[in-house]
Amino acid sequence: MSDEQTFESFGLSEPVRRAVAEVGYASPTLVQQATFQTIAEGKDVIVQSRTGSGKTAAFALPLIDRVIKPARHVQVMVLCPTRELALQVAGEFERLGKFNDVGVAPIYGGAGMQQQIDMLKAGAKVVVGTPGRMLDHLRRKTLDVSNLRAIVLDEGDEMLSMGFAEELNAILGLLPKGRQALIFSATMPDAMSRMAARHQREPVTIALSSDHVAPDGIVHHAYFSASGGSVPDLLKVLEIEKPKAALVFCNTKAETEMVARGLQNAGYRAEYLNGDLAQNDRERVMGLLREERVDFLVATDVAARGIDVPHLSHVIHCGFPESPEAYVHRSGRTGRAGRTGTAISLIGPHDIGNLYLLRLTYGIRPIERTLPSAAENRTRIEAARVDSLVAAAGKVSDDAMVLAKRLLTHDDAERAVAWLVERFVMGVREDDVMPPVPQPRVSAPAPAPVEAEAKSEARANGRPPRERAPRRERTEAVEPERKIEVRHADPKISDETPGEEVGMEGLELAVGRREGVRAGEVARLLRDVGGLAKSDVGRIHVRDRVTLVSVRAELIDELLEALADVKYNDAPVSARRSDVAEAPEPAAAQEPAAAPEPAAVVAAD
Ligand code: AMP
Repeated sequence: MSDEQTFESFGLSEPVRRAVAEVGYASPTLVQQATFQTIAEGKDVIVQSRTGSGKTAAFALPLIDRVIKPARHVQVMVLCPTRELALQVAGEFERLGKFNDVGVAPIYGGAGMQQQIDMLKAGAKVVVGTPGRMLDHLRRKTLDVSNLRAIVLDEGDEMLSMGFAEELNAILGLLPKGRQALIFSATMPDAMSRMAARHQREPVTIALSSDHVAPDGIVHHAYFSASGGSVPDLLKVLEIEKPKAALVFCNTKAETEMVARGLQNAGYRAEYLNGDLAQNDRERVMGLLREERVDFLVATDVAARGIDVPHLSHVIHCGFPESPEAYVHRSGRTGRAGRTGTAISLIGPHDIGNLYLLRLTYGIRPIERTLPSAAENRTRIEAARVDSLVAAAGKVSDDAMVLAKRLLTHDDAERAVAWLVERFVMGVREDDVMPPVPQPRVSAPAPAPVEAEAKSEARANGRPPRERAPRRERTEAVEPERKIEVRHADPKISDETPGEEVGMEGLELAVGRREGVRAGEVARLLRDVGGLAKSDVGRIHVRDRVTLVSVRAELIDELLEALADVKYNDAPVSARRSDVAEAPEPAAAQEPAAAPEPAAVVAAD
């Protein structure tokens, strides 16, 4: 490949040219340039190409332009390791084949069989799916491949490493002899070469990056961590690197959940994705990620395969991968199609050998960085807290300013400010006792809009709000010597339905998991907007479409008024008294509190 090619030099037909222009691809990527003519001529190919290089369009374009004919038969089959990748590939075929009438049927496990049969009957020319379900259709004869012209193995090495060799061989054995076979694979393990030798005819090998499969434009950082990827060390790394959005990899399913909870508890918008999640939960999480309502997705290798989320700036190897290939695949989830990204690894004592292997195999040498000591970390967090507190401070009355100035001239000013900080910024401590106050309203440090400003500021910085804002002004006098009760977030504390707790009444909010609601944030909302104290809020159950909350009965009218126009992630909260007789969901499906402090107000499970 000497001269750089353009889409014009491909000689694309008018409908495909129009589709390419509509999708917005200005010029073909390297892999597209290297493979277009060979695939268009009907030859078998083995393409060793790095992840995120534009390989989907590299096979979709020539197949749509030259291989697929007008007849309504299944003519192209694409096999992918995961349903997420299958959906992305199907989407690319639909976009690039928009003016060619290529019907595309995604075929993957976990979705309705009949729906797929209907799509096939409707005349799909391209089927894209995972090996297991595809073989199922072939065996049931619900998928007719007698007119198949091309088969594509996408991310072939991934399919083999996931144990699909048997299914792949079975499928390839059932296809007509004359079909074209295209293998795309980032790495070329022996098993892949053997499969190619068995099922391809004189394939043309196109190795774009055999010496360097890792995407360009990715910066690699490594932090040495004695604990090897613990949540506290991950949090330190996030404080230093400040990624806006990241895919965080763990080596086991249990770790994904634990790390996601750790991030949530620290105030980050995090979710986890692993093979144990039901299909609708996976789709919900992917939807949240695509809509940028989740900033940190914690996943296993298998669950994250094929995910293409353009806004991911960072990949974090919280558990360092066993093989260099896995490192390359994971890191390829950032820096897609020429964008830059950062891959960060937490290296434990047992990972040194694998780090060395990564260097030997792919020449990747992460820049070594050190984690801050506990004292350095504390200083950094304190500085950030002070910054956000000052940034959150909105307008204050002249009276408050005069009082503040006087306070600062007092001999004991530091202790008084420390008390205010502890009381209103750091949260109420157990056995905290309100001091007697000379007049009503002194518990009003700031009006609610200040919190709104703080939140939007935090969001603008790509961060969830971390600081607890002061409570909203309460109109009634504060009761002197009132003891504030703190409930611990212990799932076993009670199994009452919200509203059934003594002195509590149930409230229903018209937002739930679908709107990304988290129990901790609801607790914060009730405190910040509704002006409730910790002890005023009981259990919180977040459900799919609604959230049920217990609040102190005598405050409910005032609270309904305060919540009247409030929105949560753009959805109206529409609070109303709830039917307390409603049965709670099973404990396992309920959401844990995500409040930043361990002794949280929420006793949600
Ligand atoms: P892939 O390697 O197929 O997963 O593609 C990675 C990303 O590159 C996807 O988001 C594609 O939409 C994008 N892409 C593919 N071809 C081009 C192109 N010629 N120009 C710009 N972006 C592209």
